[in-house]
Parts: sequence; structure tokens; C-alpha cells
Amino acid sequence: MADCPGIYKLSEMKDGLLARIRIPGGILSSKQARVLSYAAKTYGNGTIDLTNRANIQLRGIKPEATDELAQTLLTEKLISQSIEHDRLRNITMDPLAGLCDELIDCTELVKSLDEALTTLENPELYSPKMAFVFDGGGQTNISATPHDFAFLAVKNEDTNYEPKFQLSLAGTLTSYYLDPETIIDEILNILDRLKPYNGFSNQSEIAEDQTKNIRIKNLISQLGAEQLLAIIAPNKNADLVEQKKNKLLNHPKNLSEQIDKTKSAINLISPTGRLKFFQLEGLAELVDSYGCGELRLTTWQGILLPSIKEDHIADIWEKAEAMAQLTQQNEQNLQIISCSGSEGCIYGGFETKLTALNLRDELSELAMPNPVSIHLSACEKGCATRNKTHYLIMQKRGSDKISLYTNAGPNTEKPGKSIEKEQLITEIKKLI
Ligand code: SF4
Repeated sequence: MADCPGIYKLSEMKDGLLARIRIPGGILSSKQARVLSYAAKTYGNGTIDLTNRANIQLRGIKPEATDELAQTLLTEKLISQSIEHDRLRNITMDPLAGLCDELIDCTELVKSLDEALTTLENPELYSPKMAFVFDGGGQTNISATPHDFAFLAVKNEDTNYEPKFQLSLAGTLTSYYLDPETIIDEILNILDRLKPYNGFSNQSEIAEDQTKNIRIKNLISQLGAEQLLAIIAPNKNADLVEQKKNKLLNHPKNLSEQIDKTKSAINLISPTGRLKFFQLEGLAELVDSYGCGELRLTTWQGILLPSIKEDHIADIWEKAEAMAQLTQQNEQNLQIISCSGSEGCIYGGFETKLTALNLRDELSELAMPNPVSIHLSACEKGCATRNKTHYLIMQKRGSDKISLYTNAGPNTEKPGKSIEKEQLITEIKKLI
């Protein structure tokens, strides 16, 4: 499987080097967005990908420009000074945090964890894929995103009806509740307790992850979830909790912010998960003129513009669509996401981005009373999302055929329906 690129370790792709810039919580100031736009134009081929971790990838970086790129990003604090620390800043939050009804606003906690991770001792012991998710208990169900650690805000009998964070370990829910006031210190303690388990993976898992560093799913498969929880939360009397139903990630529609009723968060989606540098710059201008000078990247390859005054919404939709080919989430119930595909990735079996654009154009006139999600994945790694979607169009490695799956994620073992590329749009239309 492809390695995990960062800014200090760029991956070679078909269109040049790829740099991933981790954006903790997906929160970007307009100034940072402009710096990214400048970097994409100056050091890369101008293309910016939005990832399923609400991060940014700059494509086509020129080999001779990598030092200058890192320096540029450092000045706006888009990366950390140290390579070992930067690779740990995998922190996701609900993009609506602090804007809508929820139990705990996680925005400050995300910033605090980011700062804490950049001074962590022995960062090299932890996998660069180790992921933290903060879920304040809002409507997005962001803790359904794959994670090592998810902290889900709850308020129940077990917490004495005080809002606390319930710990989930790689999708296994526990009865370990963490106080919002002390959670950052507690996370550091947990990481410390896991230090002796660096390298504690068997060979097959190392092959899959290309790392023997600390990763929760590997430790669960080696030790079992119960024993791991005892290591993580000693003397806490915590147990594993049976989850009643697997929650699904919920892409919100445009909504009035419940905290300030005169404002809205606009949820823009991109069928290709891709922007050109001038489009990101244009969005930065929009939030400076009409919003709060902040953009939020979403895990569904979109961009949320928070705190837009109601009387500017129609204007912004029009501008965003014209400038960035972004559609409003509530214009149609259609959600399309795609990986880099054969255009940009050596593992890709077919062109995903062009197919996504064609699909959007072809399906745009169809009435969709209920949400329809479509995922185009050019191999089974599922870089755009590991979550299930209504329709998955995937070409597995080693196969020369595209297959269509229903209600599946890229790790599905279900047999797909083999399909000719030319028939794809007709087949999807029939299903919808
Ligand atoms: S899912 Fe797409 S981008 Fe990811 S490795 Fe496979 S082909 Fe490449």
C-alpha cells in the first residue's frame, strides 16, 4: 500500500511529488488558505486535493522546490518544525464544532492537542497514521470516521449527567469517560503508557501498515481490546461497551447556526475533491468579505464556510459555484467523492476525477428526495473514504474491470457487479 506522505517526506506520484499538509481540526484561516494557494501555484502544479482526513495535498511539487515549500508553510504555522512531530498531527473534529447544538465545543481542545503533540517526547514511537477524532456530540457523527482514538461527548447516568468524552479505541467503544478539563493531559498519559508497545506488531500487520510503530488497531489485534483498555486506563474500572448500532457519518446540509441564528454555515462540496490554487484563494476572499475569516475543511472532501450572514448566502453560493465549481450540499441530495485515480496515482485503475465530473453533470437534473452517496475508488485502499457509501465504483488492483457495489466501503468482501465504463452512468441512473 502507498506510504503516508507528509511535507517532509513527499511521495512520488504520476504528476510529480505529493505533499500532504495536516490541518488539525480542518480549521484554516484565510491567511493560511492564501499561503497554501501561493505554495500550490509556486512550487507545485497548482492543484490542491482535499482529503478524507480534512487535510490538504499539494500536487506536482517540483523536486528543487521542497525546501522553500517547507519554509513557506512554516512561516504560517501550517507545519511543525520537526518531522517526527508533524506526522502526529492527525486530529479530526466535527466541522460544525462551536457553530451548532452539541455537548462540548471541541475547537480549543483540538488546538491544545495539536500544541501538546508538537512537544511530545519520543514522537518517533508512534505511527504517522495514528488518528485522533474529537466529536462534541453534534449531528455529524464525526466519531464514525476511522480512528485510533475517538473522544465522543456524552451526558448520561455514567457521567452524572455532566458532559464528558467517552473513549472509542479504533471503533471499539469503552466505558472510560474523560473530563474535558483534563483530557489533553490524559491523552498524553495514555500515549506514555503505550510507549513499551512500540514494535509490538506481527509481520503481516507491519506489511499492511508499513510501520511497526504504535497503532491502536494493531495493538488490539495483538493484545485484545480488553487488555489494551486495561493498559490505557489502569484503575479506572472501564469496560468495553457494546455499540447498539454502527453510526454513519452524516454530511450536514447548509444550516442556520444554532448558536447565532442570524448566521449560517455553508457546506460546499466538490465532486472531484480538488481545487485549483485560484479557487482556494477565492474562497479565502469570500470568508474575509462575508464570514469570519476562517474556512473549515471537511472529511467528505468539501469546504465549510462558517458564520455567513443570512442576507449574503445566495450571493456566496453563486460566487462559490462559479469560481470553484463547488455545489451546495442542499442543492441536490447527491454526494460524490473520489480518490486521485489513475490521473494522479500509480495504483489507480481508472480515471476517477473525470468520471466524477461526468457523473455530477449527468445526475444533476435527477430528483433525489433522499441523500445518495457515490464513491469512486481506483483501488481498494480507499484514500477518499473508508466509510460505506450507497454506491461504490471501484477497480481492485490486479483487475482490469470496474465493479459497482451497493452499501459498501472499499474493504468490502461482497462481490461487485462488473461494469463497462461506458455503461456506468446508465447503471447508476437506473439504481437511483
Ligand atoms: S485509493 Fe486511489 S489514490 Fe488511493 S492508492 Fe488507490 S488508486 Fe491511489
